Amino acid sequence: MGRPSPHSERDRRQVGRNTAKRRNSPHSCCVFASLLRRLGRHPARVAVGVTVLLSLLLAGLAPLPSRPGPHPLVPQGDAIRLASAKPHRPTPRSPRRCKGQIALTFDDGPSAAATSDLLDLLIDKHVPATFFVVGQRVEGNGALLRRMERAGFFIANHSWAHDQLTARPNRQVVRSLRSTDRALRRVGVHPTRLMRPPYGAINPRVRAAIRRAGFLPVLWTIDSQDWASGTTDQIANRILGSLRRGGNIVLQHDGVNRSPLSVRAVAKVVRVARQRGYCFAALDERGRPGFPRPHVAVSARGGVEGQHATVRLRLDASAGRRTSVVLATRSGTATVGPDLPALRRRVSIPAGSREVVVRIPLRSDDATEGREQASVVIGLGDGLRYGRRTDTFGIIDAEQATVRPVVATRSPGWILGFRFWG
Ligand SMILES: [Zn+2]
Repeated sequence: MGRPSPHSERDRRQVGRNTAKRRNSPHSCCVFASLLRRLGRHPARVAVGVTVLLSLLLAGLAPLPSRPGPHPLVPQGDAIRLASAKPHRPTPRSPRRCKGQIALTFDDGPSAAATSDLLDLLIDKHVPATFFVVGQRVEGNGALLRRMERAGFFIANHSWAHDQLTARPNRQVVRSLRSTDRALRRVGVHPTRLMRPPYGAINPRVRAAIRRAGFLPVLWTIDSQDWASGTTDQIANRILGSLRRGGNIVLQHDGVNRSPLSVRAVAKVVRVARQRGYCFAALDERGRPGFPRPHVAVSARGGVEGQHATVRLRLDASAGRRTSVVLATRSGTATVGPDLPALRRRVSIPAGSREVVVRIPLRSDDATEGREQASVVIGLGDGLRYGRRTDTFGIIDAEQATVRPVVATRSPGWILGFRFWG
């Protein structure tokens, strides 16, 4: 059956017993959300506000916390602490300022009728969301799913054919989840390990099979019943009337007949919930309202004096929101100052991006030197954990550099590129 069936009364009763724990997440972005909320009635001011905030982040103008993190970025006496190292403001996130967290989730999509409009709305309102996707609907919707991921939304698993997993043997449960996961990866997106059993149908056997397959089941705390009945306004009011302090996980659908009605309810839910002091979050690694904390790693490739070194900051998974890390240069045999800039800059990684490339200019001098080395180090990550924190790269003296052609072994005679040798 191509079209998933709606959730049954029995299954919804079952879900009520499986209500997820409500809990404050330590990773909300409440100050930002509250600023947007205050400005919400004035779109022009929102645009200005967002521009100013992003500019501050990008320019690294905000002050560094006076208390060093668990891994101090700047070693004692290092030349990085120069006048150019500008302070940065602490990351604006304080769950204490939120009355509660709301994680919007959408099941049964993607669909041409609703998902695209929904993405437009969520992007416009700066609201994160998680999409529990049916495997059968992946093929043919690759562009939509890639857009979803690029915009920073999370893609999770809702079985291959909206299967009632409690009626299936374990091996079919596993196959249903894995084939959905593979289909998503084939269209170029990176699904999370979160899954939602269709109809909320789960029991200890199925739960164990899901976990063995490497997935984590996530249910909900608020059922909008958007698939069953109600106008847009009624759907919004059902959600708003069920909000509780702490964590809320809202179930809506972007892949059923009534989804366009439900999608339009999101605008009111966002507006009223923010007025009441709620913040919007994604789901963290444990399926709770919040944001996951991916690992960030740095790698650097050197170059010739007068050119630049290339530094890559890579996340192992999506952060689901704009995040940042402080990047600094450190002396090796090459000296910060004369040979390369004393950099200490907060670098933003946009929501949906997994890699940011930073180019560091390498200064020329008149001295003839051998190959030198310097390194980069990262720290003070915003909602991130660390993989590789530092990397060393070579700097080649301009006069020593020679250019040799690199010739492809399979087609001799064709010059594919050049490599610099010191
Ligand atoms: Zn469903």
